[in-house]
Amino acid sequence: MRLAVYPGTFDPITRGHTDIVSRSLSIFDRLIVAVAPNPRKGALLSIEERVELAKIATKDFANVEVESFNGLLVEYVRQRGAHAIIRGLRAVSDFEHEFQMALLNRKLDERLETVFLMPSEEYSYLTSSIVKELALFGGELEAFLIPEVAKRLREKYGHETR
Ligand code: ADP
Repeated sequence: MRLAVYPGTFDPITRGHTDIVSRSLSIFDRLIVAVAPNPRKGALLSIEERVELAKIATKDFANVEVESFNGLLVEYVRQRGAHAIIRGLRAVSDFEHEFQMALLNRKLDERLETVFLMPSEEYSYLTSSIVKELALFGGELEAFLIPEVAKRLREKYGHETR
């Protein structure tokens, strides 16, 4: 059973993230979507909400679990007995940071591989930040978010009637 961990802030989970989840499952038998508190990023949604929405967004995938984690990612991955970290690569702009993180994590644990997956083209410009900006101004969200997540975001920004 090959198990991978897909870590991120998921503030909120988008269709780009679930695209990566789906691709991961063609390589791995099981996947843990691991939601990081990431206080530096100043998340809009609480960690509990991000976990809840990620669970809803991945409910139709077999063999996916969602949970939050604290502390060092490599420790968490080791503790869960996973074989790899999954990260999504949208554009060249993601590359430098991801490269740095992957090599740092390998330094911390020699056996740990990071697997990069590219989303479908239609999600290659999609970020949680852009979606939040769109929600703030009452824009249409369903192309980027599943309905439950779109609704929660609209509520956050006081556009619940749309
Ligand atoms: P982080 O703060 O760890 O970057 P994110 O929730 O922003 O957390 O992203 C988690 C992972 O998902 C990252 O590897 C990111 O590159 C990837 N990702 C985010 N949005 C997309 C997308 N639209 N397509 C593919 N990968 C994505």
